[in-house]
Amino acid sequence: MDPSIVSEEYIHLQEEIIREQTVLKEKISMQWSATIEREGIDPEFPIVPQLPSTPISVSLYRDALVTILSSLSTYTEELQNDVDRCKNVFDNEGHVVSWIKESLRYNTGYFQSFADDHEISAWLPHFVAEQAIRPFLHVISKRCESFIEEMNVGGGCPCCAEPVRLKVETGNEESQFICPRCETSWSQKRKSCVHCGEEKEGYVLTLSIEEDDTSQLEVCESCKNYVKVIMKSSNDSKSTAALLDLLTLHLDYIAQEEGYGEAYPKGE
Ligand SMILES: [Zn+2]
Ligand SMILES: [Zn+2]
Repeated sequence: MDPSIVSEEYIHLQEEIIREQTVLKEKISMQWSATIEREGIDPEFPIVPQLPSTPISVSLYRDALVTILSSLSTYTEELQNDVDRCKNVFDNEGHVVSWIKESLRYNTGYFQSFADDHEISAWLPHFVAEQAIRPFLHVISKRCESFIEEMNVGGGCPCCAEPVRLKVETGNEESQFICPRCETSWSQKRKSCVHCGEEKEGYVLTLSIEEDDTSQLEVCESCKNYVKVIMKSSNDSKSTAALLDLLTLHLDYIAQEEGYGEAYPKGE
């Protein structure tokens, strides 16, 4: 893997955030006693939007937001004004409720206008909102572990709906998709494109990466989308999907340079 395109400080920040998210996850898990029943969940659709209730309360989400903001202020002092402005906003319960709703929908546009309205750096509100919602998604993911393999959601994470972009090959003919957003993992059932289902011979290709034998790209000539593939030895299972996603950012650039990904028109 080639983490060199991401600064070391930024990787440290992410590791710090992941540590904080683990603590938050424990706390949320203790306060949310609900179980998630397989009955009542349509396996063709992601789980989170189908839940009758979630562990996401205003007070716990506000805690999570403040925790993520604190990690950011230790990352760089330059952000201090932005962080303070953001913190003030959380006194308003209406804002926190909207942040919950819009972060679950991954609504980039909402957070962009929020940043403009409150004179906060454009990237910051969505970054904080997203990092703060993740520990809740981690808890939900854990509670549906027992039936996750029964789910059949094309192109997206069966738990949180995030588009699929990361796969781990253990070398035993076994592939696991992993979700950097909610840390769900599930196995690949068919040798076809995870995005469009293409299974015709010659359409789903594996591209090897120059000077890198730890990762590959799986690309689809039908839908022009891709999945990053990490060749993982079985004793190297400590990294979270979120960190692996960050450490393989160079693969996203390569895929896009080669003409694959969302930014490109779909193939005929
Ligand atoms: Zn997910
Ligand atoms: Zn495809």
